Amino acid sequence: MATVAIDPRISHSTAGFVTADHKMLIDGRFVSAASGKTFPVYNPATGEVITHAPEAEAEDVNRAVAAARRAFDEGPWPRMSPSERGRILWRVAELLEKHNDEFAEIESLDNGKPFSVARIADVPLATDMFRYMGGWTTKIAGKTFPISFPGDFHSYTLREPIGVVAQIIPWNFPLLMAAWKLAPALACGCTVVLKLAEQTPLSGLRLAQILHEAGVPPGAVNVLTGFGEGAGAPLASHNDVDKVAFTGSTEVGKLIVKAATGNLKKVSLELGGKSPVLVFPDARIDNAIQGTASAIFFNHGQCCCAGSRLFVHEKIYDEVVEGVSKVASGINVAPGLDPSCQMGPLVSDEQYRKVLGYIESGVNEGAKVTAGGAKKAEHGYFVQPTVLTNTHPGMKVVDEEIFGPVVCATPFSDKDIEAILRKANDSIYGLAASVWTENLSTAHKVARGLRAGTVWVNCHNVFDASLAFGGYKQSGWGREMGEEVLHNYLETKAVTIAL
Ligand code: NAP
Ligand code: MG
Repeated sequence: MATVAIDPRISHSTAGFVTADHKMLIDGRFVSAASGKTFPVYNPATGEVITHAPEAEAEDVNRAVAAARRAFDEGPWPRMSPSERGRILWRVAELLEKHNDEFAEIESLDNGKPFSVARIADVPLATDMFRYMGGWTTKIAGKTFPISFPGDFHSYTLREPIGVVAQIIPWNFPLLMAAWKLAPALACGCTVVLKLAEQTPLSGLRLAQILHEAGVPPGAVNVLTGFGEGAGAPLASHNDVDKVAFTGSTEVGKLIVKAATGNLKKVSLELGGKSPVLVFPDARIDNAIQGTASAIFFNHGQCCCAGSRLFVHEKIYDEVVEGVSKVASGINVAPGLDPSCQMGPLVSDEQYRKVLGYIESGVNEGAKVTAGGAKKAEHGYFVQPTVLTNTHPGMKVVDEEIFGPVVCATPFSDKDIEAILRKANDSIYGLAASVWTENLSTAHKVARGLRAGTVWVNCHNVFDASLAFGGYKQSGWGREMGEEVLHNYLETKAVTIAL
């Protein structure tokens, strides 16, 4: 495959991988798309094509699902001892650790995020997920029940893998989203067809090589690259798939639910968010300023749990907004591979235009820009970290998920916590929230009253493989991570024996 403009800052081996002739993993073999078609992969820091990836379509989906079906119905993966499955997942973690910086380079090049962040966040968190789930393989068990039905019975439950799982992921944390999906499904003994996001296929293709090297048997994991309509849709509607696990926009999540009705496959969804951040007058101000800025600007605001609605008590509103605006203006926006980069480009031209469009719409609807507000460079998809004030519900920037580095600040004067909670909960989403206060009672009351799957107190964006993550309301169905994610991939069978 012809290659173009690879960043000179990446290592020789990473450049070798990026410019290689990319193949998808189907049935234990690395293959091109059946049609031979490929699509371009871009460097968002320059807008240039860096390589091409296979474009999977229905025929490739059929092959991958057939392989996963065979691997589930006849193959070793679901029948392997739990400890052997665990060992393979640990081996995946070891290989990820060994190639930590290579993955960080790939992620930075393909997604745009800072290399310095990817190497301490994205890749280690993905590694942890495989290690943590490797520990679960030996602990998935049913229970015995002393039942009251007349007679003498022995009743127990078995926890069995749900079957063939289709997984569809977005581009904001390409490797980490793959790990959040694959590790628990594999721990449960499911077999998988994973479709990567078209914008960021590279780290998932490298992960496919590592899964193969670690000893995941043929068909147990199949990795496809392609587009939502061409590959995602036939996968979500496939009748030989028992379950679909999706992460992405709420809009596409609804399409996934419709696509699943044909065979009533099980569905779990991790969708969008518009997370509130509440700063009370007793908060430690410096802490709150740094923390609420990082709540929105981490990963360039391309986080489903980005703290995009900032509510600040009127007593400290000016100070906090000024502080967050100062942080925003001081962020060094540069290519992700630049050692001084604190924020890279947005992932794609489409996302770049979408975010700039939102800022423009906010201004047209009366928002005031106290930091940023425009594009950052002539080339590449760079947007300035942006703070908008004078915003209120009913404005698109307040109601809709922007998925970019744009925060809408609003003061509150209420003493009544219920009134503040009503404002914070006034959203179709319910993924995450944070509250900033030194008052224990306020912290607990607000944590309890927020309709969100995650609440952080005096912090934001703290994740762990052991902590369940997912949404209330239109932010999704089910949970990722922790023990809770196992429910996504297991069936419970009740067995009763008359003695
Ligand atoms: P998206 O457009 O919904 O895409 C997500 C995935 O779905 C991609 O792989 C996409 O394929 C695929 N897809 C698109 N149309 C499809 C269809 N009709 N059938 C099946 N699959 C289809 O979302 P995105 O723009 O990539 O990601 C941003 C969104 O994801 C945000 O709303 C964000 O909040 C959400 N998100 C949520 C979480 C969470 O954990 N809750 C985490 C990360 C992101 P292609 O892109 O390859 O075409
Ligand atoms: Mg890219």
